[in-house]
Amino acid sequence: MQLKTILNRVEPFKSFVYGKARWVEGSYRPTLEVELQARKNGRVICSGCGRPGPGYDRLPERRFEFVPLWGITVLFVYALRRVDCPTCGVTAERLPWAQGKCHLTNSYRWFLARWARRLSWQEVATVFHTSWRNVFESVKHAVFWGLCHQDLGPIEAIGVDEIQWQRGHRYLTLVYQIEDGMKRLLWVAQERTEESLRRFFQTLSEESRLSIRFVCSDMWQPYLKVIAEQLPQTVHVLDRFHIMKKMNEAIDKVRRSEAARLKRDGYEEVLKHSRWCLLKRPENRTEKQTVKLTELLQYNLQSVRSYLSREDFQRFWHYSSPAWAGKFLDHWCTRTMRSKIEPMKDVAGSLRKHRDLILNWFRARGSVSAGAVEGLNNKAKLTTRKAYGFRTYEAIEIALYHTLGKLPEPEFTHEFC
Ligand SMILES: [Zn+2]
Repeated sequence: MQLKTILNRVEPFKSFVYGKARWVEGSYRPTLEVELQARKNGRVICSGCGRPGPGYDRLPERRFEFVPLWGITVLFVYALRRVDCPTCGVTAERLPWAQGKCHLTNSYRWFLARWARRLSWQEVATVFHTSWRNVFESVKHAVFWGLCHQDLGPIEAIGVDEIQWQRGHRYLTLVYQIEDGMKRLLWVAQERTEESLRRFFQTLSEESRLSIRFVCSDMWQPYLKVIAEQLPQTVHVLDRFHIMKKMNEAIDKVRRSEAARLKRDGYEEVLKHSRWCLLKRPENRTEKQTVKLTELLQYNLQSVRSYLSREDFQRFWHYSSPAWAGKFLDHWCTRTMRSKIEPMKDVAGSLRKHRDLILNWFRARGSVSAGAVEGLNNKAKLTTRKAYGFRTYEAIEIALYHTLGKLPEPEFTHEFC
């Protein structure tokens, strides 16, 4: 079987034929070159407008990198024709295997982009003997294609959240679709301002916006404001994950200031290494952490009381009626307000303030999957942390859409990976 036969199977072109293939001697990697020729009766298509036009001249030969075969670099060799287009003037012809000035074929770009979902961008570059830049450009192309061809359709539930990046100095606003059967990233923007979120709604079709029945978010004021303004018809839920996160942050604050105070007053450092045994749920604690906690419970410490108060609050999520859950919430807040523990009082204060939105959690039960935002957020954090070698916002945005956007891809004759 000839290489030509294989190529015609995996990458056939209507107006072009494969010519001779040759082994390139003396190149630094094993390399095959395959000639491409235009069919005799094929028309020259203008790359500007996509219409056929009269031929003008021929440009020097160019090489286009194709998907490697058995670790051998495969290059297409073709001398482009120019068209004398009545609309665009003299332009290069349109090619079915590559775009513009790009020296990578479309198939190779999709190949690299697909691998970039499984490996870091640097790993893909190393494995396929190409540059980080080529991998990045391929992923970018895949994301642009996907976003242009994406049809969001009706959306039932969304979650709004922020994550930190650049070592925690900056924020990103993320919007996810979080209903059963479809969990994906819909939007990324810089910062966590009203504007970051409002722009999402500006890109959304009226049909999609009106189809949203549930929205989950944290208690961040700019988000609350934009959601109230853009989704007046929607049940807005402050979700469990965010509320418990707030509480954990409060406990950590109490622990830190208490540890500092104990040290200052010359007490032994009972709170040393206690962070995780206070923050973890009982089922996730290690044996050592459980022993540490038992020890801690002997002291009447604010940290311990905060911890117990959070454990008590877990009962809240087990109610089925919003009315009873509301009663519990009120009692918990009253108790906590009397506790004299400032960070916990702050939590109780904001829970009181957003009482209705919190109780919506019980009204939305079953329609919004509780762990969805948390799960997607963990994946997003992993993506930003993974050593992709990116420092720019553009790269992080592309990486997030690529890994979490579930973007469409074109139909291929052959699946290269
Ligand atoms: Zn044209």
